[in-house]
Amino acid sequence: MIITKLKPLEEILQYIESHDKILVLGCSECTHKSATDVEKEVKKVVEEIKREREKTGKFVEVLEKTLPKQCEPQYIKLLEEIKDKVDAIISLACGVGVNLIADFYPKMEVYPGVNTLFLGAKIKEGYWVEKCRACGDCIIGYTAGLCPITRCPKNMLNGPCGGAKNGICEVRKNLPCVWQQIIRRLKNRGKLERLMKIWEAKDWRSAGGEGVRELREELKVGN
Ligand code: SF4
Ligand code: SF4
Repeated sequence: MIITKLKPLEEILQYIESHDKILVLGCSECTHKSATDVEKEVKKVVEEIKREREKTGKFVEVLEKTLPKQCEPQYIKLLEEIKDKVDAIISLACGVGVNLIADFYPKMEVYPGVNTLFLGAKIKEGYWVEKCRACGDCIIGYTAGLCPITRCPKNMLNGPCGGAKNGICEVRKNLPCVWQQIIRRLKNRGKLERLMKIWEAKDWRSAGGEGVRELREELKVGN
């Protein structure tokens, strides 16, 4: 899932300094928050903006809305009615949503209300950990399903670096050395020979090194 974090209120207030009609726009399906939490967050941001602006004596009208997704045109079209009633949007979607709204409405000021942090897994309530950097050429078929690009702070493709102590990474003291984990797993499975493959320097073009990545797929309906 996409992990996002609300921006500091001061930053949001700076964005909307010159606006007096804004829309706080939640996105309820793709980020790590539940739809209920997204709606609560939208309300919280609305209340905080109003409260802080009241203190300055500068009135602001704040509308609120939550779309299932801000990264699909079919949902952005739901803004048609409301878009002419505001002069700026604070989007609480990941960066994809903010970008697509900016593409759709070139004259509209669109600001990010959250920071898009990473692709992560929910380990327990309130705790998410990054597991993948969407590098575009997945290698974890060779590494027992564990991603060294994401989980090794040195992003080592041929590890380990030799610095781990008692299984703990030398760079991050709370992090198990993923390369030791990979080796242990492959050894237990009798597949250590997989590590005989020496990876050359990764071709980062698949990770966005050539700019915007695209995917076109033919939609097949039926058999
Ligand atoms: S190798 Fe690339 S695609 Fe695979 S898990 Fe790691 S970052 Fe993600
Ligand atoms: S100790 Fe392990 S996880 Fe840490 S940088 Fe070295 S190889 Fe990577």
